[in-house]
Amino acid sequence: MEDRIRKAAEAIANASHAVVFTGAGVSAESGVPTFRGHDGLWTKYDPEEVASIQGFKRNPKAFWEFSKELMVKRKAEPNPAHFAIAELEEMGIVRAVITQNVDVLHQRAGSKRVLELHGSMEKVDCLDCGATYHWDDIEEMLIRDEEVKCECGSHYLKPRVVLFGEPLPSDTLNQAIAESRQADVFMVVGSSLVVYPAAYLPLYAREAGATLIMINADETQADVVFDIVIHGKAGEILPEIVEEVKRHRRINR
Ligand SMILES: [Zn+2]
Repeated sequence: MEDRIRKAAEAIANASHAVVFTGAGVSAESGVPTFRGHDGLWTKYDPEEVASIQGFKRNPKAFWEFSKELMVKRKAEPNPAHFAIAELEEMGIVRAVITQNVDVLHQRAGSKRVLELHGSMEKVDCLDCGATYHWDDIEEMLIRDEEVKCECGSHYLKPRVVLFGEPLPSDTLNQAIAESRQADVFMVVGSSLVVYPAAYLPLYAREAGATLIMINADETQADVVFDIVIHGKAGEILPEIVEEVKRHRRINR
């Protein structure tokens, strides 16, 4: 493990266009419930009901009950993995963070260029009158156990997230592909890469000659295509990598 952390750090220290791809595993370490897996939210909720655009149109209240469980019950803060990624951007190494997470924890940790493939919960629009709310206002309603509804009376308040049955935002996706194609290091953190387009992005990076690094709690089917695979907690591994990158840069200055 130490050896692989050193190897990853060396590749990152020599990189000038590293791209980081993050999935639910990073948020999970901040206490955000995960979707898949044996204790994921999909064992309790039907994604067709609570996380698809059709489900939302049928019953927006069910969507907000679900969102309460996802976003409010355990108030999440950025963890050491988020901060480590932000620090690598600050050092001029990481150029973009591509994420499937909608919780804005990367930005709260200080990351500047974040490509949110699934959008985020930060802004919420009324589909009837067009009013826009900030997440803080919606969170207040949820904490007070009020119905989430617009001042106009509509229950159709939809956050700017990509629900099942909706396309990914093509501009963001194109930027993610362009970043991947320019990457000299492509690092996946907390994703098993099962969802499109996650599985393809590292392949674009590899075509460009990037070193591929995988940091995930468990083994994944994608591990075989990665140059360096480290299994464990991102919140422990990434700060170690950052320390090692700094050491490497001091020695080689
Ligand atoms: Zn409205």
